Amino acid sequence: MAPPFPTPKFVTGGCLCGQIRYRVDFPAHHDFEASSGTCQCTLCRRQSGSLFFAYHQLAPATTSFTFVTPSTATTAPGSAPVPNSNNSTPIPDLKNPTALLTYLADHTNPHSERGVCRACGSWLYWRNRAHDVLALAVGTVDPLFLFGEGADGVDVPLEGYGRALVNGGGGHYFVENAIRGVTDRRGRGKRPRRGG
Ligand SMILES: [Zn+2]
Ligand SMILES: [Zn+2]
Repeated sequence: MAPPFPTPKFVTGGCLCGQIRYRVDFPAHHDFEASSGTCQCTLCRRQSGSLFFAYHQLAPATTSFTFVTPSTATTAPGSAPVPNSNNSTPIPDLKNPTALLTYLADHTNPHSERGVCRACGSWLYWRNRAHDVLALAVGTVDPLFLFGEGADGVDVPLEGYGRALVNGGGGHYFVENAIRGVTDRRGRGKRPRRGG
């Protein structure tokens, strides 16, 4: 059954300063509901500075997550473009943009990696290197795709693809960290999932 919202074939996004740009191409049968979740573990809170982290889960082996060249990036005025980051390298053997800082915040899990722009601090993803899982930070998706800014209604629907990316169908992690009456109410009353 088709989900009750438009779904993208691909989206683009990037960090605040524009030195890191990416593109995600979704496989034909990508499950946009099961992949949309939020996490409120203490690590995600500290990293985002927010009460929960809205992510869209990808399996890099089947989903193309690609850093795109600086020449196609929208570079903010005054910020230097990144020299030499080659196009089209999926994340398992990724050739990182120079600005990408990979951070292992959880020393109990050496496979748990967080990707950040070293220039502007934007958090782009959490990734488990052992299990081929990447949680894309949905807030970094371009406004065109996230809520339809500048959309023509043909290539991209006027509402964008926000509901496909962050509908919450995949659950809410680390509910033991919920702030009562606030973060436990997300997800339209669905019973949230325990930490994972
Ligand atoms: Zn940046
Ligand atoms: Zn988390």
